Amino acid sequence: MKTDFEAVIGLEIHVQLNSATKMFCDCPNRTGDEPNQHICPICLWLPGAMPQFSHEVLEKAVRVGLVLNCNIQQQSAFDQKVYYYPDLPKGYQLSQAHQPLAKNGWLEIIGEDGQSKRLGIRKIHMEEDVAKLVHESDGRTPISLVDFNRAGVPLVEIVTEPDLRSPHEAMEFIRTLRTYIRYVGSSECSMEQGSLRVDANISIRPKSSDQLNTKVEIKNMNSIRNLGDAITYEIDRQIGSLISGDPIVIHTRLWDPEKRVTSPMRGKFEGPCVPDPSVPQIAIPDEFQNKMRCLLPEMPDQKAARFVNQYKLNYEEAVLMSSERDLSEYFEAVVNRKVRPRTAAHWIATQMVPALKERNQSLTDTPVTPDRLANLLTMVEEDKINANSAKEVMMRLFETDQTPQAIVEQWGFKQISEISELENLVDEVLSTHSSAVNNFRNGQAKALGFLVGQAMQASQGKANPKRLREILTKKLG
Ligand code: ADP
Ligand code: MG
Ligand code: ZN
Repeated sequence: MKTDFEAVIGLEIHVQLNSATKMFCDCPNRTGDEPNQHICPICLWLPGAMPQFSHEVLEKAVRVGLVLNCNIQQQSAFDQKVYYYPDLPKGYQLSQAHQPLAKNGWLEIIGEDGQSKRLGIRKIHMEEDVAKLVHESDGRTPISLVDFNRAGVPLVEIVTEPDLRSPHEAMEFIRTLRTYIRYVGSSECSMEQGSLRVDANISIRPKSSDQLNTKVEIKNMNSIRNLGDAITYEIDRQIGSLISGDPIVIHTRLWDPEKRVTSPMRGKFEGPCVPDPSVPQIAIPDEFQNKMRCLLPEMPDQKAARFVNQYKLNYEEAVLMSSERDLSEYFEAVVNRKVRPRTAAHWIATQMVPALKERNQSLTDTPVTPDRLANLLTMVEEDKINANSAKEVMMRLFETDQTPQAIVEQWGFKQISEISELENLVDEVLSTHSSAVNNFRNGQAKALGFLVGQAMQASQGKANPKRLREILTKKLG
């Protein structure tokens, strides 16, 4: 029976750090450009080249270790992971198999039952990325090309304990980890763009057991959803094997995002790991670690709690406004300009975020600065324009650098709140829609909404809807 088994899952996660340069040379850390633009004797590993370990890389890696609650090791070192493949100019990769940067951390996620669950992190080590192979063909002969832009790009590898039990937990773990690492500014963590790469190790055991059985590793998932689907598929496949009496053999499989299955991948030669003599040992004194810890930003959970307390957001709004650091800073910048926090949260979530997405902009590079949005929202709060017009003005804020006030003037968005003017509108609507008036008087409450709508339309969307409704109700008796 399927339900007699449980899955045991451990993740190995590569995060590409966003330092300005590569790990051991001054080449720019940029992988998307024309091939072989960012190369030098060090990252091509020409004879005699001496690696220079980047301090910025160390700081970004330490921050990852700290937010994942790890013990940063006072002493860590690089070793040479030997294998032979054309993506590796020197025949080994500088990594930290024996003396990793950080150990014994944890990360808390919300499980399927709504309870928080602490998942162990075994270690975090630094390593350099390898070159990228591009396979082409002229129709007859297959050709492999090597792009060294990625060679020497800094990575940290995060290895979890086999503490995860379901696809949901794996997806939540990655979501949480991604938020944290983005918060401390060490990486963009995009699975789609390859700056976050997750391999999943999966084994199956009877529910009553606490043994670790033979595991299978799966690779090549390029989104969180694919990660979940690949793990689901692999758990079913392994349970199926066990039920039909086939033993699980240790191997690596690739997720096929089109066919939505995993299939075996040919084994890769793995050589020894030997100490590297060229890069000095890394010593991290306590003072450095403490200084780094003090420099960590307020993290999303703390921030959400503060938003509830300080700004009286409800919990969902607070979680949303603190989900990304840029978003939280934008929100607070608007609030600091005297906009009611819930108004700000509402407009940012329902208008700003979708509008930015549509225009492929981010909160840090949009012309709709916190200042301009705050000015607009203040006009809404002061009843100078209504919500409809505010949405229109907001769209124009993306196109011009006029102030919201100037846009309102120029386009005549000013709200009609003048009682006499509203009364004229209402009288006109009442006389042209006598059947709706009758319906209302015969008890059809819906007809009021219709009449308000008509009056709004007659005002070209500029009437104050609240006052309009009051006047209508009064006139209808
Ligand atoms: P390997 O030597 O094959 O790389 P490790 O012991 O280094 O294996 O573990 C690699 C990853 O696999 C870790 O994330 C660990 O939690 C996970 N893992 C180890 N054993 C199992 C198992 N039996 N089932 C599932 N995951 C496992
Ligand atoms: Mg391993
Ligand atoms: Zn270089």
